[in-house]
Amino acid sequence: QSIIVAKNLGKTYRSGKLDVPALRNVSFSADPGEFVAVVGPSGSGKSTLFYVLGGLTQATSGSLFIGGAEFSQLSDLERTRMRRAKIGFVFQRFNLLPTLTAQGNIEIAHDIANLGAAEKKPLDQALLDHLTDMMGIKGRLDHRPNELSGGEQQRVAIARALITRPSIVLADEPTGNLDTKNSDAVLDTLRRSSRELNQTVLMITHNPEAAQIADRIIHMRDGEIRNIEKGTGRVLH
Ligand code: ADP
Ligand code: ADP
Repeated sequence: QSIIVAKNLGKTYRSGKLDVPALRNVSFSADPGEFVAVVGPSGSGKSTLFYVLGGLTQATSGSLFIGGAEFSQLSDLERTRMRRAKIGFVFQRFNLLPTLTAQGNIEIAHDIANLGAAEKKPLDQALLDHLTDMMGIKGRLDHRPNELSGGEQQRVAIARALITRPSIVLADEPTGNLDTKNSDAVLDTLRRSSRELNQTVLMITHNPEAAQIADRIIHMRDGEIRNIEKGTGRVLH
């Protein structure tokens, strides 16, 4: 049973009088626990796909099913709730809130997921311990982002994305701003948490080596899927 099913997704941006096609006929599915990398040159539609899958923007054609529910059939409120409950986002620029500590940044994702939820869940302290332990940031939790290295900030951002136990993790160039060592640590974490928590990870990357840790690699060009190949499913270093 696939958790993500995309059928003929299309997205066209309107730029003044011009239509800019960013996605055309994109079809694929991903299973629970599967790690999928999306690669392709700049402008090939990777970020647009990320925004569409995350419910941050609407496709202009085709259909998208997340956990069996068709996205376009949901109200804005239902879509927002689904996003908060089911999807964790990791961005290239970390996007941590500068005034909060690392711990505060992680906890706020939990608080946001609880907003408007029918059933408020307590913070999963055991999971917080496990994640911060696994990522080696336990001793850094009372620091603000500007006191953390880029690699530490990204690991905090990943803990923030995972604290709600999302079934889907969307990562847009998560290693784009990191050196090799930190980039390996981030890839390792994503790979392990995908296995341990049975999370579907969709990772956009420019780095062909990073893509190899995925179970499957989707190659995009000019808004289309050109090829899907198998990855090794293993961390490299
Ligand atoms: P990638 O992430 O692979 O670099 P994008 O999804 O950002 O690709 O872009 C795909 C295409 O859509 C490009 O031609 C880009 O110029 C265009 N595009 C992206 N965002 C917008 C936007 N907000 N308005 C108009 N065109 C856009
Ligand atoms: P919106 O105002 O678009 O509904 P939210 O209120 O859901 O957005 O989230 C506000 C910000 O909190 C997001 O831009 C993001 O930086 C962060 N955030 C929320 N949920 C998550 C998550 N599951 N993973 C990572 N960051 C999140």
